[in-house]
Amino acid sequence: MIYIHVPFCHRKCTYCAFYSKPVAGGRWPVAGYLEALLKEMEERKGEQDHPIKTVYFGGGTPSILSISELERIVDGLRRCFDLSQVEEMTLEANPEDLNLDYLRSLRTLGFNRLSIGVQSLDDKVLRFLNRRHTAQQALEAVEHAHRAGFDNISVDLIYGILDNIDNIEDLDILEMVTHVSAYALTLEPGTALAVQVQQGRVVLPDEEEVVRQYHALHMQFTEAGFVQYEVSNYARPGFESKHNSRYWDRTPYLGLGSGAHSFDGKKRQWNNPDGTVGEETLSEADAYNELLMTSLRTVRGLPLAAVPEGQKERLLRLVQPYIACGWLTMNDTLAPTTEGLLHADGMAAALFVGS
Ligand code: SF4
Repeated sequence: MIYIHVPFCHRKCTYCAFYSKPVAGGRWPVAGYLEALLKEMEERKGEQDHPIKTVYFGGGTPSILSISELERIVDGLRRCFDLSQVEEMTLEANPEDLNLDYLRSLRTLGFNRLSIGVQSLDDKVLRFLNRRHTAQQALEAVEHAHRAGFDNISVDLIYGILDNIDNIEDLDILEMVTHVSAYALTLEPGTALAVQVQQGRVVLPDEEEVVRQYHALHMQFTEAGFVQYEVSNYARPGFESKHNSRYWDRTPYLGLGSGAHSFDGKKRQWNNPDGTVGEETLSEADAYNELLMTSLRTVRGLPLAAVPEGQKERLLRLVQPYIACGWLTMNDTLAPTTEGLLHADGMAAALFVGS
């Protein structure tokens, strides 16, 4: 699997701590970035020895790129890698970039899945988050994607912004998509939103309200035919994100571009924004902790057969309270319940072993 990072956005959303540069007011140095990306592909083409089943363009805002810029990247990928077995090729996109011509050209380039950053269907909330699109544009983007031939469309939504989720409850959009990623708003240090909260200009809902919204959305998505398969991800049967599911299975992947991470099964490597490369070889303890963290965030859970023998006894002892309170079930797999998924990170951390 290959991940391509596009670290540019039209402007910065108030809550965003991703590595991305806002480009309002000027054209960013796309030519230089594309050159560097194509060069990196050439240099690292030997590193991917697993069949490539998924390609994911993430960001930032990949849909900020023109079709000819995307075509250069896709051509580069085809030159360097065998893409004949690719089943899923995703572009993360913002609604305001998605007109019908652009979408049709994306299909021609080979993209067969879109992940659209809708976030909210309330214009007031969208303005508060400093998003550039309106609710109407988001709906139109999804409609146009259908007309252009996309039958696998995911939308991102954010909850935990207001004291209610009336804005999300009017979700006609669910009828038109195959996948929803719903994230609770998190307050990341250094973001504009963190400053607003610190200065008392914004008050976010308390944890109890956020949990209520999680359950309300869960019910709504479930009634609309979606199945939760990870803490934040819901899909119609058969439309789970293949790319993300492989991350959670710890399949090796190659990440290209500024800020992108790679994983070869043992070693994690990342491109720092300053051009240097970071690297970390996972110890047995690190690998086990990652296994706990990723599998307890998925409905599929942690197969006991995947737990190293030396850890089993300790694990089975430590999970008893979570089974007793209904956060986990256990047969030959430790699987989080809907309630347990909400606490997945905390449970995993409590089960970690020291490095
Ligand atoms: S569009 Fe996405 S990556 Fe860009 S600033 Fe907004 S949230 Fe961050």
